[in-house]
Amino acid sequence: MASSTVENYLKAILHLEEPSGSTTVGEIAKNLGVTPGTVTIMMKSLSEQGLVNYQPRKKLNLMPGGRKAALRVVRRHRLIELFLVQVLKLDWSEVHEEAEILEHVISDRLLDRIDKMLGEPTHDPHGDPIPDRDGNLAVVHATPLAEVGDGDYRVVRVSDDNPDLLGWLNENDLTIGEEFVLTHPNRAAGVLEIARKSGSRIQLGVNVAEQVYVESLKP
Ligand SMILES: [Zn+2]
Repeated sequence: MASSTVENYLKAILHLEEPSGSTTVGEIAKNLGVTPGTVTIMMKSLSEQGLVNYQPRKKLNLMPGGRKAALRVVRRHRLIELFLVQVLKLDWSEVHEEAEILEHVISDRLLDRIDKMLGEPTHDPHGDPIPDRDGNLAVVHATPLAEVGDGDYRVVRVSDDNPDLLGWLNENDLTIGEEFVLTHPNRAAGVLEIARKSGSRIQLGVNVAEQVYVESLKP
């Protein structure tokens, strides 16, 4: 089993390479809060282990084995989050931090039991897809609320690592599956206004709207 440090690097690369298929030492350093020198040493090691495709000063990406290992950690993380919310009744704002620790230590046997107990779920409490046993990851078709125009939307995913944001969304009933109408997207002022079905209106900053992913109700 890979060390938790290695697992965190693989997970970070999986996340960072998602949009374009590759990432850089600089991006990884920023994401993990370490120096580029530290990342370079790790990339050489991961490259020797056949997990990462790395050459100095070039873009890098996961090799099939590295991707598989990264998806295993993501599967653990998301199943643990769902277990903590559904079974242990933790708030969705406090499970990410716990999952960051447990994802590296839980046994396959216990994870399997959790998966079965929860009915082989497909999404975690924040709307992120859970990779299946074979490492297949569903694609979420969602756009940040900050980037869409007027229209009817449903919340399908929120960033999972900002407890303050998750607390605020909970207070305002902006959880997964909630529907609303975006009425006045005033991006220049950095403020969006949305209306609930009940008629109540909520104003939110663009920085919040960047972390709330929605799908259109009228395709
Ligand atoms: Zn999380």
